[in-house]
Amino acid sequence: MTKACIKTVFLLFLACLLFPHLSYGKESQNANQPKNRKALYLKTAAVTDIPWFVLAAADQYERNIRNMRSDLPDTDSLIGIHIDQIKWTGFLNPNRKDIDPFTISLFGGLGRDGNGDGKANPNDPEDMLFAYAAHLSEHGPGIENIKIALWDYYNRGKTVEMIAEMANVYKTFKKVDLSGHSFPVPLKYNYTFHSTWGARRGWGGLRIHEGTDIFADYGTPVKATAYGIVEMIGWNKFGGWRLGIRDPQNIYHYYAHLTRYEKGLKKGSAVQPGQVIGYVGSSGYGPKGTQGKFPPHLHYGMYKDNGKTEFSFDPYPYLRAWESQDRNKKK
Ligand SMILES: [Zn+2]
Repeated sequence: MTKACIKTVFLLFLACLLFPHLSYGKESQNANQPKNRKALYLKTAAVTDIPWFVLAAADQYERNIRNMRSDLPDTDSLIGIHIDQIKWTGFLNPNRKDIDPFTISLFGGLGRDGNGDGKANPNDPEDMLFAYAAHLSEHGPGIENIKIALWDYYNRGKTVEMIAEMANVYKTFKKVDLSGHSFPVPLKYNYTFHSTWGARRGWGGLRIHEGTDIFADYGTPVKATAYGIVEMIGWNKFGGWRLGIRDPQNIYHYYAHLTRYEKGLKKGSAVQPGQVIGYVGSSGYGPKGTQGKFPPHLHYGMYKDNGKTEFSFDPYPYLRAWESQDRNKKK
């Protein structure tokens, strides 16, 4: 046994003492609950140098990708992270089903034994997350080293950026379940909206209307609809004072025609549902500062990234659902 190996075993033992209530049985119906995932992130963070919020962000990123691809295993398991067979067992390993940590390490595979049962089992969430975290920690501690490790692993700058951004959201709100939503306008204000996605728009060339318009008075507060990070903020000739927020499910929420932003909000800010981010206006359709070319309203759009391109989808049914959720919260 090497010194590093002894240290790992000792830390695993310590983690078991610290978190004895943890169990990740596949038979458990509630295995996929956020609290179980957070427990596993914390346990893995305790034995590697990778903070739990980085693991949470990477795990959610991989879960999003899996949901969009048919060539990867389903996402029923506790975690979304998946290291493929070749990387797990080692490129030159003749046994693609190898679960022996010793031979896997001989062949330079990433597979590790995370729960101390002597096997490096890729179907075991503890082994998978531990192997992933141990690999990231090889570049050393600290977020800059972790970013380099992520780049080495994914070979895609956008992926590193998205994981780092989402890590910040998990770190800010200190929880794994970031699934809550809010309607973008407080219900006590006057507003109206209809399904207008896909309608034709003339200004600046013929375009399809990629969103829902919520008509409301000037100065009506605009709230974040989801947890996320402000990815874009500033003037655009179509959207006026507009704002883009990316959520942990990798959905991009676009808010346009604002009269102003909420004070202190900037690129990189972490937001939560219901938090005021700006105020309804009629900015846009011209050079910087143009207002009043149409009645005041919030233009709200939703986009999904499939790893290659971003495409718009109809926010209307979501807006209706969030509106009734907010209404029920008040009762
Ligand atoms: Zn619109």
